[in-house]
Amino acid sequence: MERPTVGLYLVATPIGNREDITLRALRVLREVDWVAAEDTRHSGQLLKHFQISARLISYHEHNTAQRIPQILKYLAAGQSVALISDAGTPAISDPGEELVRACIQAGIPVIPVPGPVAAVAALAASGLATGRFVFEGFLPLKASQRQARLQQLAQEERTIVLYEAPHRLQQTLQDLLAHCGPERQIVLARELTKLHESFWRGSLAAALEHCAAQPPRGEFTLVLEGRSASQKDEETSPSEAEVRQELARLLAEGLPRSAASRQLAQRFQGSPLWTRRRLYDLSLQLEPPPGSDCSSAVELSSATDDETDS
Ligand code: SAM
Repeated sequence: MERPTVGLYLVATPIGNREDITLRALRVLREVDWVAAEDTRHSGQLLKHFQISARLISYHEHNTAQRIPQILKYLAAGQSVALISDAGTPAISDPGEELVRACIQAGIPVIPVPGPVAAVAALAASGLATGRFVFEGFLPLKASQRQARLQQLAQEERTIVLYEAPHRLQQTLQDLLAHCGPERQIVLARELTKLHESFWRGSLAAALEHCAAQPPRGEFTLVLEGRSASQKDEETSPSEAEVRQELARLLAEGLPRSAASRQLAQRFQGSPLWTRRRLYDLSLQLEPPPGSDCSSAVELSSATDDETDS
């Protein structure tokens, strides 16, 4: 049998359901000389389940400094290493990134063996826009960094995927609500691929109520709607009260309704909410200025004839 390429294999393992292991993952785990695992006891059980006897070494965030040179030595000696994490794809919110970089720098092949990723499973089933998305992983815990990140995320137009521990879920939902507003849609993907898999879909405000009524248990991936064009329009557009005031002022100056709406539509060009048509309709609700005859049929037709922006 041909000897497989010597290198670092990044082997994805199930995030819950063991049937999600791939045939290739099983073969690679059988063939490599070493399996570097985040938690050797946990991964030992997975390997035992699939009757794989592998030489295990631990590789986790607290021993990278000593393990990286050791793993590079194995690889340089022509021995292959598979990296696995507790669940899902190594190096995705899991240790691995540093080892991958060290291998690349040493000219050692890095070979992905793709499979489960909680972020992608949650996104795909979320029902939110999947065409463009950002993976945020865990939000920083340090207050200043967290605030800065939340501010950035509030402006993000792409769908956002986050990981969160169950005991921090409520705090994170509160922070997201404070920055993105109560109406922003979110999907709580819980216990993916496991017995109690569930998807809760709704607004951030309703998600908080849901979590208060049913304290979060299990593993969660959050999929947050991006800031939509309509939300942006609402935020940047002048309010109806402000627009009414401006219209009233122009009418009081003696401008006919059509001219006043045209002038304001030009001023609010960046705001698709305030079209000339809508401004004109609003002006009809205002008291006509004393002495003017604003409701004349001539003026109404002049406002609608050359209407192009509604
Ligand atoms: N490397 C993993 C992957 O590829 O998805 C992610 C590891 S990260 C340390 C663990 C986080 O992933 C959890 O806190 C949770 O947010 C998410 N997660 C992992 N398994 C999950 C599952 N079965 N259902 C929902 N979220 C999950």
